[in-house]
Amino acid sequence: MTDAFAAHVRATLDEIDAAGLTKRERVITTPQGGQIGVSTADDRVLNFCANNYLGLADEPSVVAAAREGLDAWGFGMASVRFICGTQAPHRALENRLSAFLGTDDTILFSSCFDANAGVFEALFSAEDAIISDELNHASLIDGIRLCKAQRFRYRNADMADLAAQLEAAASARFRIVVTDGVFSMDGAYAPLREICDLADAHDALVLVDDSHAVGFVGEGGRGTSELFGVADRVDLLTGTLGKALGGASGGYVSGRADVVELLRQRARPYLFSNSVAPSVVAGSLAALDLVDASADARARLRENTELFRSLMTEAGFDLDPFTAGPQGAPAAGRVIPTDVPPHPITPVMFPGEDGARLAGRVAEHMLAHGVYVIPFSFPVVPRGKARIRVQLSAAHTGDDVRACVDAFVAARAASQETE
Ligand SMILES: *Cc1c(COP(=O)(O)O)cnc(C)c1O
Repeated sequence: MTDAFAAHVRATLDEIDAAGLTKRERVITTPQGGQIGVSTADDRVLNFCANNYLGLADEPSVVAAAREGLDAWGFGMASVRFICGTQAPHRALENRLSAFLGTDDTILFSSCFDANAGVFEALFSAEDAIISDELNHASLIDGIRLCKAQRFRYRNADMADLAAQLEAAASARFRIVVTDGVFSMDGAYAPLREICDLADAHDALVLVDDSHAVGFVGEGGRGTSELFGVADRVDLLTGTLGKALGGASGGYVSGRADVVELLRQRARPYLFSNSVAPSVVAGSLAALDLVDASADARARLRENTELFRSLMTEAGFDLDPFTAGPQGAPAAGRVIPTDVPPHPITPVMFPGEDGARLAGRVAEHMLAHGVYVIPFSFPVVPRGKARIRVQLSAAHTGDDVRACVDAFVAARAASQETE
């Protein structure tokens, strides 16, 4: 390596650090769960920052199924799907996801990041237009960049702006509206009814990335399109197996049979990256079995979410990311669905100039007292809108939730005393 390049890398790392943006990874000493060990604390801590919504990451039947998959099908495929990387369980999982989501067919990727990286370039070209919410996940942004289609961006959940962008893209051959089902920093649902109405009015397609919803949102856990009753109006669904559905890894695109077939022929992360490991496929199938067999975990998750929201509100915390802080009311065109149950992502707001420091101190104090939560500040969220993002799980008990609220109250008091 040249000295100049080494110096450049060091200087970049120093810049990241000087801006306070260095990410430090905490080492977990147990399986993922509602309670975990962390290397920086002697006792177990309550974990309120995983995407383990249904608590399936260490669920015995999921682990057992993965172990059986390992024994029956081996450790790895050492191949991409189309050469010699497809076993019966891979097809079974794709069929299972299609049946669950109510679609024709599904194609597995090694991650949802890869699904989003591959889906656009395979289906759209320079004559087409992709119209994307400004808060969409990084993998959607990258996937759209990899495609030659014209790019349009609309303000978060702003239907007036979406309509304007659809107009601006009117000359395109095909238009597709792309949105996260849930915006992960706010725990807010995309207004899918309104998005589908606008898409219909403009003959546009709709793609929803339901990574933060599949398995637990909606009556049957089928996600945001079920929640809003628009399952038959969403053309393409992407999602992850790495959150509620066991939390291992893998992603998918689901939709019309021919579209999925074209992705099998053309999607580059599918064609040129290894098959999902057989044990992960087997465990994910078991996770889907659990989701289908019982609504108990979904109900527990919802109770925990509602309990947390009501106790925190009572304790005087601000849980509304849209009105908290100096920026005040949301844009006039923004549609925030409020007639649906709250999402388990719950932002605890620390608005204003000193919010980022306060949120950081509160989170530190909470970890020292056995509750693991993560603060987020600019540039991950807008300036003046710092927050601690709490993620509820079915793995939590009511007592766990109450302990979390108590820790917030104690940490707020302690942090204000040390001002
Ligand atoms: C987590 C997430 C992804 C990435 O999923 P992986 O399977 O971990 O790559 C993609 N999109 C959204 C909206 C997500 O929340």
